Amino acid sequence: MSLADLAPAHIRAIAPYQPGKPIAELARELGLDEAGIVKLASNENPLGLGPKARAAMLAAVDELARYPDGNGFALKAAIARRFAVEPERIVLGNGSNDILELAARTFLAPGDSVVYSQYSFAVYPLATQAVGARGIEVRAVEYGHDLDAMLAAIEPSTKLVFIANPNNPTGTLCRPGDLVEFMERCPPNVLVVLDEAYSEYLPAEKRIDSVALLRRFPNLIVSRTLSKAYGLAGLRIGFALAAPEVADLMNRVRQPFNVNSLAQAAAVAALDDLDFLRETVRVNRAGMQQLTEAFVRLGLPFIPSYGNFVTFHVGDGALLNRYMLERGVIIRPLASYGMRDSLRVSIGLPHENARFIEVLEAALDG
Ligand SMILES: *Cc1c(COP(=O)(O)O)cnc(C)c1O
Repeated sequence: MSLADLAPAHIRAIAPYQPGKPIAELARELGLDEAGIVKLASNENPLGLGPKARAAMLAAVDELARYPDGNGFALKAAIARRFAVEPERIVLGNGSNDILELAARTFLAPGDSVVYSQYSFAVYPLATQAVGARGIEVRAVEYGHDLDAMLAAIEPSTKLVFIANPNNPTGTLCRPGDLVEFMERCPPNVLVVLDEAYSEYLPAEKRIDSVALLRRFPNLIVSRTLSKAYGLAGLRIGFALAAPEVADLMNRVRQPFNVNSLAQAAAVAALDDLDFLRETVRVNRAGMQQLTEAFVRLGLPFIPSYGNFVTFHVGDGALLNRYMLERGVIIRPLASYGMRDSLRVSIGLPHENARFIEVLEAALDG
């Protein structure tokens, strides 16, 4: 007998999440200088940490010997103010990954099923499998969610639907009207997790008013993160907005101190730093243009993206990825998503984007 046999079959079947390669790891593996490495692999904010978040965190350091506020009073108050929701609707998470898992752990049991799209975020099947539920993957249309097909895929056993909007890794966006129609037609006893990890990057006219939807549809759970536009990926902080009774259950399942005190302090400050957010969006828009213009010039097809990353198609993703790694450029292979011919690059600072383009061009020439 192997000790692994002690784990249930659904746990043993889990394929590990493949994160973007850390800079230090690539430096170690290939003997490169860390300072010369460009990482555009994890959709992080290239501006780094915002000034207000940094100051708040430094001020919170002196209290680190104490446990964090398990109820996150100050952070919930900040979220409530900013998004005009009641604190009873808020669940704080150790990253929004924690929120996605909490939704699964709170509502799913073995035998239940979960609907999500092909080419959508890798954590949905992971969170589903970890609780012994069954994933129903619905074929994508032009790399985006086919909301009609997702509705049709809902079975009596289905308790949860995951929708990423914009989607990662493809950058696609659902039309606001289509999402509202989806909620109207979705059975009220099926929970819909609307994962808005990239919503800050959207122009106003593409955004849906998810808080208004929340009031209309108690079966909606909105998931947000401070890892992307707010520049706090390393701190791990995200949150859900939901009906009070849904939030209450998720709050019972979550670890009492799942969000650390530095993260809470930084998040309060970051939510208030609208200048940093605006600059983030501006840098992203310019970088998106820089990259997509290069793809057009080089004749590489790409998926138009509403996030802070763009997925492009090459013949052999693994081969080009290897070439780029050897030259100190880390991007994201998508073979684990079943997209072997594609790679995803995060929008960086202008000189980082330029380095990526330079190496890409050399690879295509070579
Ligand atoms: C990055 C990402 C998240 C979560 O990130 P956290 O750091 O765990 O908050 C969630 N959903 C999508 C679609 C993402 O791309």
